[in-house]
Amino acid sequence: MGVRARALQSVIFTQSFYFGGNVPKGGRDEAMLEVRSFDDVTCIKMSQTMRGKPLAWVACYLVDGLLVDTGQAHISEELMRFLENKKVQKVVNTHYHEDHIGSNAAIQKKFGIDIFAHPKAVPKISKLAKLFPYQEMVWGYPVPSKTKKIGKRIDTKNYQFEVVHTPGHCDDHICLFEPKKAWLFSGDLYASEKPNVARPEERQWEIIASLKKVRVLKPKIMFPAPGNVVTDASAVLDRTIVYLENLGKRVQRLHEKGLSPAEIRDAIFGQEATISIAGQKLTFRDFTNEQFSTENLIHSFLKK
Ligand SMILES: [Zn+2]
Repeated sequence: MGVRARALQSVIFTQSFYFGGNVPKGGRDEAMLEVRSFDDVTCIKMSQTMRGKPLAWVACYLVDGLLVDTGQAHISEELMRFLENKKVQKVVNTHYHEDHIGSNAAIQKKFGIDIFAHPKAVPKISKLAKLFPYQEMVWGYPVPSKTKKIGKRIDTKNYQFEVVHTPGHCDDHICLFEPKKAWLFSGDLYASEKPNVARPEERQWEIIASLKKVRVLKPKIMFPAPGNVVTDASAVLDRTIVYLENLGKRVQRLHEKGLSPAEIRDAIFGQEATISIAGQKLTFRDFTNEQFSTENLIHSFLKK
């Protein structure tokens, strides 16, 4: 059977945006939508560009009338244009973060359909969130929307998705697992095999427990929110769990020796993780108003 990763189309729209905040000034740029199909799943990756390069990808997935996440507000117009003639019958938000709910309100207005999320996410999505400047610049403010509490399963015409509560990235995070195909829609539970930054609200030991919870299901294909589709999901999850557990043990050993989180960061990673934005190297920490940092990753292993 396997995955038929056939690139269908790659569309670049020329919607213009202004950038601000900590990002180097580069003038106007574009919105980018990249669409690929994996078996019956359509991966819709979205980003703004900065000097011609994608700034930060986020994806939503359309499968058999179900849309998993709705991307960032800044790309809402392009996403809605893409969905114009598609069958969209229900939506699931994997969690409340602004880059997963950006087109909720527009989709509800156009299709009049239900959007489901974890019970703890429902009140958060219904209010206007306070965003940091980098979030406002990269993703934009989502229009508040009404969601319904998700149950244990979400059914479409041809598939049944099990809802798996996977806290750690945030406490309202869920994954969807389709047993027949062994598909895992993993939201922000997994971004890379060796994460080196974390947000302040993350709890790494909870993330490890959640990774193990989905690993037990033996997923074959994983559809993460950044759009980096993984075709050997169980092997990748195994390696990620080993990496995080080993890192956590090192952090705890150094903590017991009396090192501060900043000292532990320097001992293990040497420095804060960096990111290249429009050809300029910055630390993640500076770019994200101190939200994503390597020191936060160390902290997140020390939370009880
Ligand atoms: Zn998130």
